[in-house]
Amino acid sequence: MLTLKDIHTYRSTIHALKGVDLQIDKGSLVAVIGANGAGKSTLLGTIAGQYSPKQGTIFFENKAMEKLPAEIVSRMGINLVPERRGMFAELTVEESIRLGAYPRLDSLLIPANEKRRIEEEMEQMYQLFPRLKERRRQLAGTLSGGEQQMLAIVRGLMAHPRVLLLDEPSLGLAPLIVEEIFDRLYQLKQSDMTIILVEQNAKAALQIADYAYVLENGRIKLEGLPQHLLQDSRIRDAYLSSH
Ligand code: ATP
Repeated sequence: MLTLKDIHTYRSTIHALKGVDLQIDKGSLVAVIGANGAGKSTLLGTIAGQYSPKQGTIFFENKAMEKLPAEIVSRMGINLVPERRGMFAELTVEESIRLGAYPRLDSLLIPANEKRRIEEEMEQMYQLFPRLKERRRQLAGTLSGGEQQMLAIVRGLMAHPRVLLLDEPSLGLAPLIVEEIFDRLYQLKQSDMTIILVEQNAKAALQIADYAYVLENGRIKLEGLPQHLLQDSRIRDAYLSSH
């Protein structure tokens, strides 16, 4: 569905991605694991159109898209849930979720049938994360880190993504919350969602992924099936010992 070929991206003068090749099939979950500064956020930002690669191609369903700006990429159905979650602190949970539907709408004047549909979808989202329903009138800025992450994922889903890009959803969260969120991501994958997940928490990511890449200093160092990577001593030593 999405293929990256020899992608080079600069962040100001830093050569952050140095020839990345990556591929994801429809309905699969691909994990990209790597340490701080490996280039994970740059990779997602490049796919999402936030950073223009200096070299290389990105094909989305066989169409080259590496030159397109972020708003067009988002309209094509590639949606990024950013690392810092991008909350509007003064909106309630409910308002934030509703806002998530806007990128897929043609106008800010929403027809009645679409409004009904959005409300129905909100109920489905609350089934995915019941905690958000309990807190639906609470301001997003007052949620815990885990709840904010749940909200960020739900907001991303409301845009009807064809590919969901998740930047370190486990960041700063307690292990039990990470487990809950990753269980839901697994459930989304089972329902045919296509997901690219970048993570420092290699263990959690490899447990739910169909395929994984290891990014080091802007290059893919290793790739393979998660069960193989979990057994690989290079991965165990570098990424699994602290989790
Ligand atoms: P982290 O997990 O810490 O967010 P990451 O794997 O997502 O790390 P990136 O944020 O993509 O890594 O950073 C890749 C490289 O680009 C790093 O060397 C980083 O210092 C550099 N970089 C990131 N943002 C900028 C910026 N705004 N200006 C210059 N260099 C940057």
